[in-house]
Amino acid sequence: MPEWIQTSFTCVTVSVSGSNYVFKFNSVPTYKSIYWGSSSANYESTMYVNSGQSNSANPNLIKSQNYTLTVPINNTDISAPASSFGMIGVSTNGIAIYNDQAAPGDSLSTEYYTFDSAQGHPTNTGAYHYHVEPPKISNNDSKLVGIAKDGYLIFGKKHDSITAGLTNGFTLGGANSSTKCTDAGSSTSVPTTWAGAANYNSIKTANTRHHYHVNNGTEVNGILLSGKLIGVGGSTN
Ligand SMILES: [Zn+2]
Ligand SMILES: [Zn+2]
Repeated sequence: MPEWIQTSFTCVTVSVSGSNYVFKFNSVPTYKSIYWGSSSANYESTMYVNSGQSNSANPNLIKSQNYTLTVPINNTDISAPASSFGMIGVSTNGIAIYNDQAAPGDSLSTEYYTFDSAQGHPTNTGAYHYHVEPPKISNNDSKLVGIAKDGYLIFGKKHDSITAGLTNGFTLGGANSSTKCTDAGSSTSVPTTWAGAANYNSIKTANTRHHYHVNNGTEVNGILLSGKLIGVGGSTN
């Protein structure tokens, strides 16, 4: 198991299977949330949106999940396939990452008002997940946020000190979409300010170091992954 996985991820079990890494995780947060329910010691009433907006929790409570995310170790595909609703990545603190689609019949800009203080919320089966920049991990910086189904890493809004989404980055699939890094030189290296960068860069080829950044979009600020991924590959269940 490479050092960059060991030093960067918690609350996940990772193994190597052929040419894939297999992440197993329960998507249960280790912090307080309104979605533990008021009878829990981990309950807090605070939500992310607090002032001048009508925040309101959805009726669901957090339940442990049985997620498996299988990602290619050295993906080189960059054909930008469509992403799908549901878990398509895992954060460095072991939480499922969803794209920018809300549950059918709802929009993410509406669901935004149901996010807990960590910008997460559970589905009607208790599956807790993130759609946008998780403040428990990253806040307008270049920290590693997680890994997507296609095996490419997701960093915060900045590539080192550069704000990726606003400079030379380009988006996949139009407005409010996944941000694939193309800052000068960056498509062949990951942010050097990330603690695992040296180890990661040493075991990856240039073609496998493509990566995402948290989006700088404004509708719902900080989308993690959107309508398109960088490459084909990986599986979830
Ligand atoms: Zn959601
Ligand atoms: Zn970058």
